[in-house]
Amino acid sequence: MLFSKIFIPTIKENPKDAILKSHQFLIRAGYIHQIGSGIYNFLPLGKKVLDKITKIIRQEMNYCGAQEIIMGFVTPAELWKKSGRYEKYGKELLRLKDRKENEFVLGPTHEENITEIAKAYIKSYKQLPVNFYQIHTKFRDEIRPRFGLIRGREFIMKDAYSFHTDEESLQEEFDLMEKAYRKIFYNLGLNFRVVDADSGAIGGSGSKEFMVLAECGEDVIVVCQKCDYAANIEAAKRNKRTPNYIAPKANFAKFHTPCINSIEKLADFFKVDSFFTLKAVVKKIIFDIESKKIPELVYFFLRGDDELEETKALNALNKRGAQALELIEAQKSELLEVGLKPGFIGPYALKNLTNANYIIFDIDLKDEGDLICGANEEDYHFIGVDLSTFEGLCYEDITKVKIKDKCCFCNGSLDHKKGIEVGHIFKLGKRYSQDLGATFLDKDGKSVAFEMGCYGIGVSRLLPAILEQKSDEKGCVWTKTISPFDISIIISNTKDEQQISFAYKIYEELLLACVDVLLDDRDLRFGAKMADFELIGFRYALIIGKALENNKVEIIRREGLQKFEVPSENLLENIIEILKRD
Ligand code: ATP
Ligand code: MG
Repeated sequence: MLFSKIFIPTIKENPKDAILKSHQFLIRAGYIHQIGSGIYNFLPLGKKVLDKITKIIRQEMNYCGAQEIIMGFVTPAELWKKSGRYEKYGKELLRLKDRKENEFVLGPTHEENITEIAKAYIKSYKQLPVNFYQIHTKFRDEIRPRFGLIRGREFIMKDAYSFHTDEESLQEEFDLMEKAYRKIFYNLGLNFRVVDADSGAIGGSGSKEFMVLAECGEDVIVVCQKCDYAANIEAAKRNKRTPNYIAPKANFAKFHTPCINSIEKLADFFKVDSFFTLKAVVKKIIFDIESKKIPELVYFFLRGDDELEETKALNALNKRGAQALELIEAQKSELLEVGLKPGFIGPYALKNLTNANYIIFDIDLKDEGDLICGANEEDYHFIGVDLSTFEGLCYEDITKVKIKDKCCFCNGSLDHKKGIEVGHIFKLGKRYSQDLGATFLDKDGKSVAFEMGCYGIGVSRLLPAILEQKSDEKGCVWTKTISPFDISIIISNTKDEQQISFAYKIYEELLLACVDVLLDDRDLRFGAKMADFELIGFRYALIIGKALENNKVEIIRREGLQKFEVPSENLLENIIEILKRD
């Protein structure tokens, strides 16, 4: 390919809203073009990189026996109503009507579509298991589209869905997909971690996420420094904590604590570690529309030095059938209205006082003593509180795991890392097949709902994920398999006949050898061509310059910008060797 013949509209200025380097470089180097909020066009270089990514994904999915299909992007709303997600999915789901007033949604994910396919065609256990996948457009009306392709509204996903006779078969496919994903991300050249995850709005019984480690990542991952435990902070577990300080032994008593209305002040007042204080976190539950329940206050109790993890808290409520959609801040006025004194809230008589339906204690507090808590009375706290004396308390894991908390598998120290989620695999179970009435006849001729799994990869998000991990301050650095061209030939002096003819000769040879080569034939200053090489990020540059007179040419590796001279003789073999090496 000749540089002059490809459409690569590079620009000098950073786009105004682009904070991340990946976003800046993808636009400045002419890979993508923004056409609306969270909506991007892929230009020739962007499409080329996308194709390299999808090739690696396809290869692995096909190898695992998954079959490629394409499903309608526009999905009848009816299906989403049947699965119950039409209401639940919230505003991210773009709903629209056609000219006959029929309702549709733009697919943010395709569980409903695929379940219809299975329902229509898979009638017998003999047709199972089966795994279908597509690489296609998704639309999610994200509240804050940002960071370019990382959080678009329209984006490309690889989504696969498998159907099984039983849980065992589903587990086998889930494990196979985990292996396949590991291979895919390895082949893409990424530094990633597989983490335990929350299953979110999709539902189901178990899920794992694939996280590319990067400082800009929006997800916090908890990793063990000793074993290979890793989990999204939304799902991370820890060992029961042990105090660093001696417990403040005391008989149960009410204590006057004037103006001591925060954990810090409380710990300071009693000269104890905040580990021994009880923190009340009051939130307001917004319920599912279907539940027809009006918002109500919910009470969580944690150790004073712990924080509430909202996803865990929401799951804890829903485990108890709450049908909670989200948690929002409770206003001070709302607390006063139910007779509570902010800064002095505690569990004693709380249920009677507030008529609360949900009071949840963190699992770390189970039957713990030597605690200090609010007395539900202005300027008073209780000391010597022993939770084992309470009857029927509800304990759940609701805290955010902190740095230095202990691993529940090996007691190693836990750490936080930032990650970009690039893949997510789920065991869905019968969540969709039951709602949509998708059944097959088992060995005994009984009608049974399918066990299902689903497996997503953020294909378009992978472009910025790779760049966030690899790029330097000059521009894009791609991984070996993904760079849009393996080598770009740059002629130093475009007036020099010898340099020109040598460049064309090696270009033809590389083409014949099936190397993905580009010849920068533009009549530009050498510096400008080098700047483009650095910005766009071809894997290598081959510089044909003055040294050619001494039978030498220069090769530059984009990653690290290392330069080395090689003889102009046997250059083809030399380049092929270098490309193979790293
Ligand atoms: P996130 O937590 O980042 O919003 P998600 O958990 O909602 O993602 P999934 O439903 O698991 O996403 O979708 C599968 C994959 O699709 C994700 O792992 C991610 O890589 C990608 N993806 C999700 N939302 C977007 C988006 N708005 N833009 C680009 N890629 C996305
Ligand atoms: Mg996800």
